[in-house]
Amino acid sequence: MRGRFAPSPTGALHLGNLRTALVSWLHARSAGGEWLVRMEDLDLVTASPEHEADQLASLAALGMHSDLPVVRQSERFDRYRDAVAVLRDMDRVYECFCTRREIREAAHAPHEHLPDGAYPGTCRHLSEHRRAALRADGRRPALRLRADGERITVHDLIASEYEGGVDDVVLQRNDGVPAYNLAVVVDDAAQGITHVVRGDDLLSSTPRQRLLQTLLGLPEPAYAHVPLVLAPDGSRLAKRHGAVTLADLAARGVEPAQVLARLAASLQLCAPDERVSPDELAARFDLDAVPRTPWTLTDDDL
Ligand code: GLU
Repeated sequence: MRGRFAPSPTGALHLGNLRTALVSWLHARSAGGEWLVRMEDLDLVTASPEHEADQLASLAALGMHSDLPVVRQSERFDRYRDAVAVLRDMDRVYECFCTRREIREAAHAPHEHLPDGAYPGTCRHLSEHRRAALRADGRRPALRLRADGERITVHDLIASEYEGGVDDVVLQRNDGVPAYNLAVVVDDAAQGITHVVRGDDLLSSTPRQRLLQTLLGLPEPAYAHVPLVLAPDGSRLAKRHGAVTLADLAARGVEPAQVLARLAASLQLCAPDERVSPDELAARFDLDAVPRTPWTLTDDDL
């Protein structure tokens, strides 16, 4: 059994990211499995080696280390392009010239359970003539999956059953950069990941990933989507909410061991003021006991 944590190195990890990493680490460790860190640095404009180093240091400060060398998606573009070629050979790929604005403004039928930002299918049936005209206009196409409106049910170890539609997800952006959903599926398979434990903001993307796994003939890992950490106002935790990174907390005299205890307490694994080693926490861990609702911080926490 092998788990992973796959952050995008675009900033410091905050308590929400660290808590999800901890659940994934504890889950792997408690079963005697391996745990890997993969850097999802596809977007070279926002990702940086400094953020990567800082994220790895934060994980290490809480006792989490990758069991194998850290993999970077920026070094694996060839694999993603090969996967697109496989889909293209199956006639599952088409060019999309839409701008974000056009997608936002396109009226689309009220499909149930389509993921946020689902693509309305504008370019699905463009003629060769029209595509040439758009290209002559200076537009560069993204590549999308022809998903054929599939609906897929995912059996999640935390969220139980989740049924969702799959839209024509982007496989390659119009600047040539491979897209998240494709890269994640290729890498989870290439790295032999058996259990994907991650934030439940990605639950609605999981049917997309399942479809890609099926089409590409890849093994299907088990999924466990962990409810997010929320700010006192109920919004998803972010840097702007206050002392949320290890550096912010250290500046207030809160040590990594105390942060670990706080995170573990939110998972019902110890008392907030208890000092417990990561290995002891792994011995206590039970995925079934992970709270099924978000952890909402109070003003005092921040
Ligand atoms: N890189 C994604 C993120 O930081 C997570 C991908 C995943 O766990 O599948 O949100």
